[in-house]
Amino acid sequence: MRPIAIMAAMQEEMVGLTSALSDARTINNGSRQFTTGTVHGQPVVLVLSRIGKVAAATTATALVERFDVSAIVFTGVAGGLASGVNVGDMVVASEFIQHDMDASPLFAPLEIPLYGRAVFPTDAGLTESLRAAAQGLLNNLSQWVDRDTLHALNVQSPKVHSGLVLSGDRFVSTSAESQALQKRLPLALAVEMEGAAVAQVCHDYDVPFAAVRTISDRADDAATTDFSRFIHEVASRYTSALMGAWMASRRG
Ligand code: SAH
Repeated sequence: MRPIAIMAAMQEEMVGLTSALSDARTINNGSRQFTTGTVHGQPVVLVLSRIGKVAAATTATALVERFDVSAIVFTGVAGGLASGVNVGDMVVASEFIQHDMDASPLFAPLEIPLYGRAVFPTDAGLTESLRAAAQGLLNNLSQWVDRDTLHALNVQSPKVHSGLVLSGDRFVSTSAESQALQKRLPLALAVEMEGAAVAQVCHDYDVPFAAVRTISDRADDAATTDFSRFIHEVASRYTSALMGAWMASRRG
């Protein structure tokens, strides 16, 4: 059976995932550490992509070329953009755009040159299974994260959203930039720094791709503080609980 890849950008998001692996084995390849093993009897490869589009793209390429993965799932945190997408919510991406791509006037703004498109959809089946796992997790969130922590982060009745996610090589941390993105791309639910790059690699190789992000901040003037607290206090618990539930659901 070909393995499924689970990628995350930051160490804090990866903690917990690795400890859930059976028969874990570490392989170093091109400045990245890949961990192979099984979860609920299914072969997986876990890897930390590091931050940004290039790091994510080289990591995704190695997963396809060297590990022959059957699908890639990205899990991590993101800044919320649309109103109602709050800290503690989860966003399952239905499609991605690189918000910092602009080769105009040669190509339309946002269009990836020579691909004839700006939008890269995710795999519908994988996306639906992630959405269901995310909803299940949020229905029982207090099992994973204690109420005081959620209260301190001002997380109240978190929701699952599905839709457009933006990626770019910028940590969006001012209200002005966040508002400009919302005005330009009103359907965008969240912004992060890797997903669209992995979506493009998966498009190149025809490998199914899906992504789920927990909202760590609102990409506004408070983003830096909110992001750091979320990452330290809850990100790894969300990620490992979600991926565990998702792998269990795939067992059929
Ligand atoms: N201070 C961190 C850097 C984190 S960059 C460090 O030193 O390690 C932010 C990471 O979280 C990226 O991987 C990105 O995908 C995601 N992210 C969370 N909030 C974001 C925001 N507001 N803008 C862009 N990316 C965000």
